[in-house]
Amino acid sequence: MNVELVNTGSELMLGRVLNTHQQWLCRRLADLGHVVTRQVAIADTGGEIQNAVREALGRADFIITTGGLGPTSDDITRELIAELLGKKLIENQDVLAHIENFFATRNRPRPMKTSVETFVPAGALVFLNRFGTAPGLAMKIDGTQKWLVMLPGPPRELRPMFDEYVVPLLKREFADETFVCRTLRSTGIGESRVQEFVEADLLPLVQRGLGVGYCARPGAVDVRLTAAGTDAATIVRAGEAVVQRILGANIFGLDDEEIENVVVRLLKEHKKTLALAESCTGGNIAHRITNVPGASEIFLGGVVSYANSAKEKFVGVNAKTLAQHGAVSEAVAREMAAGARERFGADFAIAVTGIAGPGGGSAEKPVGTVFLALASAAGVTVEKMSNPWERATFKEVTATQALERLRTRLLST
Ligand code: ATP
Ligand code: MG
Repeated sequence: MNVELVNTGSELMLGRVLNTHQQWLCRRLADLGHVVTRQVAIADTGGEIQNAVREALGRADFIITTGGLGPTSDDITRELIAELLGKKLIENQDVLAHIENFFATRNRPRPMKTSVETFVPAGALVFLNRFGTAPGLAMKIDGTQKWLVMLPGPPRELRPMFDEYVVPLLKREFADETFVCRTLRSTGIGESRVQEFVEADLLPLVQRGLGVGYCARPGAVDVRLTAAGTDAATIVRAGEAVVQRILGANIFGLDDEEIENVVVRLLKEHKKTLALAESCTGGNIAHRITNVPGASEIFLGGVVSYANSAKEKFVGVNAKTLAQHGAVSEAVAREMAAGARERFGADFAIAVTGIAGPGGGSAEKPVGTVFLALASAAGVTVEKMSNPWERATFKEVTATQALERLRTRLLST
């Protein structure tokens, strides 16, 4: 079956709100075996909404719209779709009771504007909104097997509503189609090289229906394997074995796994602790490590030693080393890592120092130059990298490389 999404909202078109529904819904639907075939975002004006829904109805079997179900004058999705489908809006007593109860339990008077939310297109299924007032709506299109579902804009309302009402509806109306998706996440090799390495060996499986996709991310490349139908699981598993055989050491994780999750897991397994001395990443490595639940078991702390004085004072870099080699140098990275390891009393310490740009580069040390140091009981190793990207990407890539060094070290001990 074909699924299409129509995300409405002028704020989306103005770039004020990131369209997270697109990703979230596509992801959830794919996990349920339904790959979205088309998605559009449009401003919430009358003509746009009706056109988009009319077109989608001409192609798809299941259409989801998001946004515009609220009580304000710019919330017109419900009215426009009722008009398009030739349905009257009828007051729904369950919705009325729900909204009255919503305000009563919060000890607030019910705004009169919420009355519009109690009117639903004749024959629509109503999804009561546990986290707000506007109900979601689902309508089977007359004379067809098609469904149109309308969900509210706020993510905290849409997500639980999808899980509670739309998932059962899909399961009931559209027999499960088997779809299997596996993502292998690699680092250390560029996107086109990854493809070059695995392409030929995957070809026989591609001929049996394996879909292969590559997605470049800062510091990482994802290889996505998909298949549909009765053999889907077998085909994807075979593809996974091929990619593992070829890229093995460069694969750090599967599906949603981030490199920091892997590093934290490995540190726990080895019962080792970590400290950081970050200059050019500005705390990004610490941020990513502390995104992982249970990081406190292995992470002792870090210093954002940005100025030379901070490098001296907090991680014990020698003033002479700084004067002789400059802050962005192998020698300083080495002393930062050793200093952080010693001062925190950690088993491992990572240090990064580099030139994020756009200014500050030289012929000898151009923008993007980074020294990555890893200190352990065995001593300190330093590597020079070149990451000439804009600042946000630079930080992300550098942090990924630092975490990757530690991951490979932990795997080899
Ligand atoms: P409300 O009752 O809050 O008005 P609504 O169903 O009318 O809900 P909208 O008015 O379209 O929905 O959007 C409400 C808010 O939800 C937006 O301001 C925005 O913060 C968020 N939102 C809407 N669409 C999206 C989207 N596609 N991705 C992420 N957030 C969104
Ligand atoms: Mg609104």
